[in-house]
Order: sequence, then C-alpha cells, then structure tokens
Amino acid sequence: MAEDLYLAAKAAMAKCHAPYSKFPVGAAIRADDGKIYAGANIENLSFPEGWCAETTAISHMVMAGGRKIVEIAVIAEKLALCPPCGGCRQRIREFADQGTKIYLCDDVGVGKTMTMDELLPHSFQTDVIG
Ligand SMILES: [Zn+2]
Repeated sequence: MAEDLYLAAKAAMAKCHAPYSKFPVGAAIRADDGKIYAGANIENLSFPEGWCAETTAISHMVMAGGRKIVEIAVIAEKLALCPPCGGCRQRIREFADQGTKIYLCDDVGVGKTMTMDELLPHSFQTDVIG
C-alpha cells in the first residue's frame, strides 16, 4: 500500500527550501529495511548547487543503512503526477530494480504508477561494472 508513502512525501514537501523556483517537491522511499525515508528539494542561491527531493530521500536512506529502494513516491505542489527529473531517474536506478514501482502523486494521492524501466529504459546499469 502506497498511502503511507504518499503521506510521507507530502509531509516532506512541506519542508522544502524552494525560495527561488517556488516549486515544492517531496519524495518518500520504502527501503529494504522496511523504513520510510523522505526528502524535499533544497535550493541554493547559486542555482546549480541545489538538489531534488529524491536526492534528499536517497541520502537519508543510505546514511541510515538502507541499500535498496523497494518503492518510491514523488509529489510536487504545482504539477500533478510530476515525474523525477532525468538525473534523479539515474540516482533512483542506482538503488532500484527495473521493476521497482514509482508512484507519481497529486494532491489527493497516487495518480499514476510506473516502473523503473518505464521511467528510465536503457539505464546506465551498475550491475555491469566491476
Ligand atoms: Zn531530480
């Protein structure tokens, strides 16, 4: 059930630091340890130095010891069903399988479910390295 992820992503979105774009985004990951890790976008006056909500959530997961994304929800206040940006698709892929579910949300809940492979086909895959 993705309702808890949706609520976690929405709560995280409220903590964003987006004074420049005014485009709040939240993300929440259910990790392989069963815990939920959430994040929001954090911008910087030097624009390229800001980062996305998914990146914050992944950082929380990794630092807490989680290593695998089981599923992830993303929500943006001003854009229903906002998909992760290209960079975040590859960041998510680093910790996900091709079948990992990504929930695109709106202001009432999960509006669309996609798989990692649908979001980022032909991804640069870490399992072929090393
Ligand atoms: Zn992104």
